[in-house]
Amino acid sequence: MAYSAACADTGADCPGSFTVETKGELVEHLNIHLAESHPGVEMTSDEVEQIIKVV
Ligand SMILES: [Zn+2]
Repeated sequence: MAYSAACADTGADCPGSFTVETKGELVEHLNIHLAESHPGVEMTSDEVEQIIKVV
């Protein structure tokens, strides 16, 4: 089991996607990605929850 999220699911025109083993790690990756690629964009934890898929 892994956790996956695609940046495009936020509505962003971005090919970024992540698949990692834990939800905590995924949230960390998303936050790093947002800071690097989408400065100024913030996601609430609810919004993050909505794009996380268990794969
Ligand atoms: Zn992105």
